[in-house]
Amino acid sequence: MKEKIKKFFLELLFPRFCFGCQKQGYYLCKDCESILDVSGFHKKFKTKEINDLYFVTEYKNPLLKNLIQRFKSEPFIKELSLPLCSLITAHFQLLDKKPDFSDFVLIPVPLEKTRLKWRGFNQAEEIAKQLSRFFKIPLINDVLIKERKTLPQVKVSEKERKENISKAFCWQNKEKIQNKKVLLIDDIYITGSTMEECATTLKDSGVKEIIGIVIARAKSGQDNFRNV
Ligand SMILES: [Zn+2]
Repeated sequence: MKEKIKKFFLELLFPRFCFGCQKQGYYLCKDCESILDVSGFHKKFKTKEINDLYFVTEYKNPLLKNLIQRFKSEPFIKELSLPLCSLITAHFQLLDKKPDFSDFVLIPVPLEKTRLKWRGFNQAEEIAKQLSRFFKIPLINDVLIKERKTLPQVKVSEKERKENISKAFCWQNKEKIQNKKVLLIDDIYITGSTMEECATTLKDSGVKEIIGIVIARAKSGQDNFRNV
């Protein structure tokens, strides 16, 4: 009951409006969510270090782009992790063959500390927190660390992204993840350089299997917005 009253007053003081249709009370109403084309299919996507990648949709819908942009660009709306994460859980609920992640742990792609201070939260970790509740598996955020500052990946050419992110991550407390299976969480998958670099670092620390989960996968040229 207390929660309900708190919610009521919060909505009164800071009303939310749907990013799609301006309806009050939501950041993303059910009608607008339904036009986001949440995929009910999964096709195996394997790279050198990543065994598979799950994503809700392609990163091209203007409404989805706007939601992700407002989640991670100033002025940030941290609460957007909820509707964005519910798109991910909707994707898993729609799949005919549901993957079993019960023996996995969740690791978000980390932010370098000055970037974390600037945004005040790590967008990948906010998504991972919700997924930890959904899959009922632990979130581990003190193993994979971003130790080197890099340019935002959208500010360098696609060719230079691999080099930009190279050796940017390190691991600590490896006993927590040795021989474990990891769900690596990020918001969008662009060229895959960031996720691949994280996966290389995690494998080096003793992780045996890595599966990526993101909201959207971008094709070349779909990621041109500021402050990624
Ligand atoms: Zn709406």
